[in-house]
Amino acid sequence: MKIHEYQAKEIFVKAGIPVSNEGVATTPEEADRIAEKIGLPVVIKAQVHVGGRGKAGGVKIAKTRDEVREIASQILGMDIKGLKVKKVLVGEVVDIEKEIYLGVVTDRDSNRPVIMVSSEGGIDIEEVAKKTPEKIHRLQVDPAYGLLTHQAMKLAFSLFDDIKIVSATASILRKLYIAYVDSDASLAEINPFVLTKNGELYALDAKIVLDDNGLFRHPDLEKLRELTPEEEIEQEAKEKGLSYISLNGNIGCIVNGAGLAMTTMDVINHFGGVPANFLDVGGSSDPQKVKDALHFILLDKQVKSIWLNIFGGITRCDDIATGLVEAVSELKINLPIVVRLIGTNEEKGKRILDESRLDIYSVETMEEGAKVAIKVAGGGE
Ligand code: GDP
Ligand code: MN
Repeated sequence: MKIHEYQAKEIFVKAGIPVSNEGVATTPEEADRIAEKIGLPVVIKAQVHVGGRGKAGGVKIAKTRDEVREIASQILGMDIKGLKVKKVLVGEVVDIEKEIYLGVVTDRDSNRPVIMVSSEGGIDIEEVAKKTPEKIHRLQVDPAYGLLTHQAMKLAFSLFDDIKIVSATASILRKLYIAYVDSDASLAEINPFVLTKNGELYALDAKIVLDDNGLFRHPDLEKLRELTPEEEIEQEAKEKGLSYISLNGNIGCIVNGAGLAMTTMDVINHFGGVPANFLDVGGSSDPQKVKDALHFILLDKQVKSIWLNIFGGITRCDDIATGLVEAVSELKINLPIVVRLIGTNEEKGKRILDESRLDIYSVETMEEGAKVAIKVAGGGE
């Protein structure tokens, strides 16, 4: 789970890592009030779950109060790599002497935390990693011992010469490692970690990725979860007893059982189509679930056809048919619907569909279902 820079900095502050003075705003007026408290100039930074904000125009310095409002209103609502900016961080501007990279990451190959530091920190660290990897110093940590002082000192000596700054950096590195362990993070990163012209050290940016599997131990961090619009829909579907995962294609699928749902997606792919979603209505027999399923599928404007692929066991085909007939009249569905009903109460289900005079494509096999669903959606690739 990703968290925002300002949230990661709160974790840093608790761990004793120095962070410059700052606040978070959701409106230009709020940003202005924070700037008034901190004093001008201020740096205004987009808070989104993605890196490279600086290059995308999401980090700007404001020198006057008018500029604070202007830049804040410009960054709020901005789209950065597909994510909308809803909050900005307003922080004290520091005079940077040197930008450093400090990071701890879980290395899946060695199954150990790895510390990475580089004197070439800042917005081009990816380039450094690619072109001059020797400028990044790494150290595998034995989790039984943690990051030891002499190890941290050695890393810090690769960044600075002045012994005071080296010691202070080593101490911050150890705090970063502890913050990473204590929050069950898979990544804790400071880029840039800066030395100011006055000789002070600050974490100017903060990135923490929390391991989802450790979150049950951190209810306070779990609260920081922000769902994407797609995840919100998936969550709503879950509350209605449906497993729904939105995908990129144009064929909406309603299936009973996770295995059949996976197979349905595979068959669509096999015949050159792309499923719009995974959707398992579950094993129970409830017409309402079909209506709910159609509701969620219709929220996805990319969907061009809908395929109900039902293998009746506990799920009875007549219940599915009833749900479908009711849903089509209630939700005013204009999309072509392909139906495959097999199994328990199949005849009864088919009779309900016939009598309703619904305009649907009734199919018998998986192959036929996939081919028709692809065709009525406007063809495959
Ligand atoms: P990122 O691009 O998403 O990683 O955002 P950062 O928070 O790392 O900011 C990008 C760059 O903006 C940094 O590398 C700095 O060069 C610059 N920057 C950020 N805050 C300040 C500040 O307070 N003072 C100055 N002079 N530059 C800053
Ligand atoms: Mn950064």
